[in-house]
Amino acid sequence: MSEVVAWDDDGTPRSPRFGDRYRSASGGLAQARHVFLQGCGLPAAWAGRARWRVLETGFGLGLNFLATWLAWLQDPQRPGMLHFASIEAFPVAADDLLRSAENEPGLLPLARELAARWEGLTPGFHRLAFAEGRVLLTLCVGDVASMLREQAFRADAVFLDGFDPELNPEMWSLDTLKGVTRLCGRGTALATWSVAGQLRRDLQSCGWQLERRAGLPPKRECLAGRYDPAWEVKGLETEVEAGARDCIVIGGGLAGSAVAASLARRGWSVRVFDTAAGPATGASDLPAGLLAPHQSPDDNPLSRLSRAGVRITLQEAQARLADGLEWRRTGALEWRGDDRRPLPALGEPLAVWSREASAAQKQAAGIAPDQPAWWHENAAWIEPAALVRAWLRTPGVRFCGGRKVARLARQGEGWRLEDAAGATLAQASLVVVAAAHESAPLLEQRLQLNPVRGQVTWGPHADDAAQLPPFPVNGNGHFLPRVPLLERDAWITGSTYGRGDADETLRREDDAANLERVRQMLPKAAQAVESAMQRRETRSWSGVRCASTDRRPLAGELEPGLWVSTAMGSRGLTFAALCGEWIAARLHREPLPVEHRLAQAIDLRRQDRARSG
Ligand code: SAM
Repeated sequence: MSEVVAWDDDGTPRSPRFGDRYRSASGGLAQARHVFLQGCGLPAAWAGRARWRVLETGFGLGLNFLATWLAWLQDPQRPGMLHFASIEAFPVAADDLLRSAENEPGLLPLARELAARWEGLTPGFHRLAFAEGRVLLTLCVGDVASMLREQAFRADAVFLDGFDPELNPEMWSLDTLKGVTRLCGRGTALATWSVAGQLRRDLQSCGWQLERRAGLPPKRECLAGRYDPAWEVKGLETEVEAGARDCIVIGGGLAGSAVAASLARRGWSVRVFDTAAGPATGASDLPAGLLAPHQSPDDNPLSRLSRAGVRITLQEAQARLADGLEWRRTGALEWRGDDRRPLPALGEPLAVWSREASAAQKQAAGIAPDQPAWWHENAAWIEPAALVRAWLRTPGVRFCGGRKVARLARQGEGWRLEDAAGATLAQASLVVVAAAHESAPLLEQRLQLNPVRGQVTWGPHADDAAQLPPFPVNGNGHFLPRVPLLERDAWITGSTYGRGDADETLRREDDAANLERVRQMLPKAAQAVESAMQRRETRSWSGVRCASTDRRPLAGELEPGLWVSTAMGSRGLTFAALCGEWIAARLHREPLPVEHRLAQAIDLRRQDRARSG
C-alpha cells in the first residue's frame, strides 16, 4: 500500500496529506450512485447516445469510475462508448484500489481489471482501455489546473470530487471551475457532494444552473447542475456525429488499420483501400518487431509519447492477439554501446518503465557486468501483420485490396478518390491517408516524407540456441531471440536503416551488417547467427518504411475531412494505435489520450508547408 492512503481500523480510507477521508461515511458506492450518477441524470441521460464523456476532478480510489462503468455494463441502453477522464495529482497504489472495492461484490471484478492496468503512472495522461476499448479511462496525472489546460474535449457530465474545500481549496477554486467549464457545452450535467456557498456562487458565475438535492446521510444536501449560461457558448460546441457516415482509409498497414479500428469502434463504416491484394504487405509485413519505450536523459517528448503508445499497443495486443504465437510480453534489455556513463537512477513511477538491468539480466544477455544497460519492463515482440489483421476484423471495417488511388478531389463536403485515369474509385465524407511514403503525392507534397529501407535477418533455432539471450535486446537495432516463424522457434535481428532508399531488393551486405551489429551487442548470440549463416539456414526480409524529417509520426487534420496518420518510421508498433486514438478523439471531441502540448510533437501541423507558408 502507498503512503498516499492511510486506512483507519474501521476500513475508512484517509489522506494524511489533506487530513480528509476519501469517501462519505455512508460508503463510496452509495455516494457514487446517489450524488454523482443520479445527480447527472444517469443512466437515463446517456440512453441511446453514441458516446458519453465524464470529466472528474479527483480520481482517488476510483469508486466513481467503477460505479459508472458498472452502470454502463448493466444498462441495455448504454452508449457505444464510455469515456471517463479523471484528474489526480497523487495516484494511490493498486492495492488501495482493490482494498477500497473489497466489500462491493459488483465492483470488485472491475477493480481487479483496473488494478491490473494500474502501473507506471508518470505525470501526464494515461489511457487505460477496458471492455474491448469501449470503456476508456483517461487518467490525467498532475495538478488539476494544469491538467485541465492540457485537455480538449466536450464533457457530457462533470463530477467534482475534491476533498473538503476548506482542506483542498485548489480543487474548487474559481480558476479550476473555469477550466472545467471550458470543457463543457450547453446542457452538460454536473454533480458534487459539496454545497458550499462560495462554490455555488462561483459555479453560477461560470454559467451553471444549480439545484440543491437531498443528500445521502449524514450529509443533508448535495448539488446538481446544468451548464446553461446566458451567453453564447463557443469553442467545443460542434462535433462530428458518425451515424451512418463513411470513411475511407488509404493504406492497409499498421497506421491505416489502427485508425480504421479506432473509427469503426465509434460507429464509422470504414473501407481500407490498399494497392496490394491483401493487408499488411508493406513495412507492416515484418515477421516480428519489438515494442519498447524510448528512453532519454531528459525524458523528452519522444520518450513520453513512446510510453503512451507502448501502453496502448500492449493493451491492444493483450485484447486481440494470441500470446506466444502472435506476440509476447517479454521485457527488453537496452544495450548502450560504448557509453559507459552510469545510468541515472529513475524514481518511481518512471522506474516501473525503465531501470538499470540487474547483474543477472546482464549475465543472461552476455554483456559485461560493468556495462550500463536499461531494462524495459513494458516491452514485447509482436507480429505486426497479426495486429493489422486483428484491427481489420473490427466490426464496421472492410478491407478493399487492389485499389490504387492516384488523386483526391474535393466533392462537396467530402472527397472523391480517383485512379490514374481520373475515373472515380469511391467517395467518402472522411478520408484518412496512411499510405507511408505513397501518401506524399496524395497530399500534393504538402508533407515531406522520406523512404527508409530496412532489412532484417532471421534463422531457426539450432543446437546452439542456449547461446541466445532469454529476452529481446535492443540498442543498435534489435535482437529477438525467440519468435515462432514458419512454425519453428527462430531468432530475428535487424534492422538496417537505409535513409532515402526505397528499394526492397534483399541485399547480402545488409545481412552482413546485421551480423556485425549482433557481434557488437551480443558476441555469444553472434556465434549462433554466424553458424546459421554458414549452414545457409537464414532468411531475410526487407521493407520500406516512411519517416518525417524529425523522425516523429505525422498525424492529424490536413484540411476538413482529410486526415493523415503516417511517418511511423521504425516505430509503427509504438505509434499506430496512439495516432488512431488521437485522431478519433479530435474528430469526436473525446478526451485526448495524450496531453495537448505533447501531441504537438506528432501533429502534422508542425510540417504542413501550405499552412506554414
Ligand atoms: N473520486 C474519488 C473516488 O471515487 O474514489 C475520490 C476523490 S478524493 C475525495 C479527492 C482526490 O483529489 C484525492 O485523490 C486527491 O489526491 C485529489 N486531489 C487533491 N488535490 C488535487 C489537485 N490539486 N490536483 C489534482 N488532484 C487533487
